[in-house]
Order: sequence, then C-alpha cells, then structure tokens
Amino acid sequence: MKQKERSLIEDTKHAAGKYGGFSFGGCQPDGVVVHNPLPKKITFPNGAKSALLLTFDVEGNFGNGTGSEELEVVNYTRICERLESNGIAATFNIVGKMAETRGPEFVQHMVDSGSEIAPHGYVHELNERHGGDKVYAGHYGPEENTIQVNDGIRAIENICACNVKGYRLPYGHFNEYSYDAIEAAGVQWSSNLGIEDFLHPGNGYGTQPFHMGLGKKIYNLVEIPLDSQTFDWAIWMADATANKSFVDAVRVYCKSRNIPFERTPEGAVKIWHQRMKEAIAGQHVFTFLCHPINLAVIDDAWGDPVEQFLFPVIDLLGEFARTKQAWVSTCAEMAAFYRQVS
Ligand SMILES: [Zn+2]
Repeated sequence: MKQKERSLIEDTKHAAGKYGGFSFGGCQPDGVVVHNPLPKKITFPNGAKSALLLTFDVEGNFGNGTGSEELEVVNYTRICERLESNGIAATFNIVGKMAETRGPEFVQHMVDSGSEIAPHGYVHELNERHGGDKVYAGHYGPEENTIQVNDGIRAIENICACNVKGYRLPYGHFNEYSYDAIEAAGVQWSSNLGIEDFLHPGNGYGTQPFHMGLGKKIYNLVEIPLDSQTFDWAIWMADATANKSFVDAVRVYCKSRNIPFERTPEGAVKIWHQRMKEAIAGQHVFTFLCHPINLAVIDDAWGDPVEQFLFPVIDLLGEFARTKQAWVSTCAEMAAFYRQVS
C-alpha cells in the first residue's frame, strides 16, 4: 500500500507569482483576501439553515492516490445510484486526462444522475507536461496555468457536452496566474482553500463561500472553502510518518469532539457525521472532500470503503436533505445562490 513515501506537503509555496501556495498540512497561501463571505444563519432554497456539499476529486492514478483506478471507475456506477436514490447531487472534479482516457461512460453516468462535473486540472501533476520536478500550479507562470485550466475545461466539455461552471486545482495549489486563468475562462466558482486548520488555528478561511481576493485584486469567482483536515486521506492513505500532519489533524479533531480516533471507514463516518451535525447546529455551510481512488484500495484490512464509509455518508446527507435540516447542493448551485443573495 505504501508505494509513495513522499510527503504531500513538501516545497509548497508558489515559486512563481506573488501570491498563493496551498492550505492544508499546516500551510497557508500568501495574499488571500476573503471578501463578502456568505452570512451564517441564512435560509437556503429548501428552507434549511445550513448547507452541506459533497465534493469528489476524481483522479485515478493520475495523482498520488494508491487505489485501483479500475475499481474506482467501476465504483462510480453504484456511487451515482446511491446519490440518486437519496435524491441528492454531488460535485465531481475530474482530472481532464482521466476523463479522456477512461471516459466517457463513467463521466456520463455522473451527469445523468444529476450531479455536477468540473475539472480537477487537465493533468494532476504539472511536471507530466512540462518536465522537471515542479508538480503544483503555483510553481508555474501565466502560460502553463492558462493551458492547464483551459485544457481541463475543454476535456470535460468535450466528453459530456455540458458547460463547466467551476474549477478545483490539483492539491488546491495556486498562484495569481491560476486564478487569472480560472476567471478568464468565465466559470462561476473555484474551490481550493481550506476551511480550518486544527494544528495551526488561524490558517483557515472559514466555512462560508466568499468572493476570492488575492492582494488587491477581487476575482469574479465564488470561492467555496473545503474541509482540508478530516477528509478521506488522513484516514486511509496518508502515511503517519511522511504525512504526519494529516493524521495529527484528525487526531486533534477527534479528541476535541470526544470521538474515538479510529483510522477505519466506520471511524470516518463518525467524524463526518459530527461535521454534519455541527454545520446544522451552527447554521453554516460545510464542504466535504472525498477521493474515490482512496475508496478503491484492495486490502483485506479495509473491506469495501464505498460500502462502509461512503454509502452511510450519502445516506446521512440524504436524510438531512429530506428532513430539510440541510440544503445538499452542488458547487454550481451554491455559487448561484451566493450571487443571488449578495
Ligand atoms: Zn487531486
């Protein structure tokens, strides 16, 4: 299981541009300004006072996931069925090259089930395209960022004949050239910043969508911050030595909420359930992140994490939506709502 001992958070600051970086693993990007965050305790379209978003980074073995891409692709059939039977939609952020290589069937499935699809880069690792060892968007200039953003959008739009409405960058790593390119592409939302940091309090950007700013520039983009602390990685994949901060953050969360710290699919459901309850009680937004490649780890120790982790999560979200305790929306729906009320 441990093919990659490399830390995910090495060499993190933007190497090009004035601003950026990424916001997990104790890191904080430079220059981010939060403009007009959506107020808490607001009423969402279904009457609920909180909103829950389920987002997936669909990346097969194009990124650093260690599961079986074959199994991941097969799993989308039942994941989409489960979403549909609960009457909820998710946002699938797909690596453009993976969509081209493994699609169009699994991508079409997501669209047909009513979910949103958006790019997660054209390539996940930028050195695949440009050589060298620089993987992150924030390490490149305007030209490479523009190609990465536009090719990602083109790949997705070609496959499903749909209009891309947002963009999540691989690793959520960026600089101003990344955001310039995303804005120029005319999409509505971006989703790269972390909600909070349990190990370095103050590093996060809060739960509420906002108008993205870098330095003095305000982008015409609704930024939807995501959970970069208790997402699936810390539970299944992150190596406790090379990626200690992921695991430590989950441990701190569990301790602060009096939840057993169990790195199992069932343990993860308890954590995510707690996250949902807190969003509902606090009347705010909360955006989840799951990497389905990490649910496709074939290992006797894990069983089937789609069954043991993701399905209970989808069922909980469905129940909160049905009882109108939460509005379960896609990123595009959230961005449209934000623009309507602000
Ligand atoms: Zn990714």
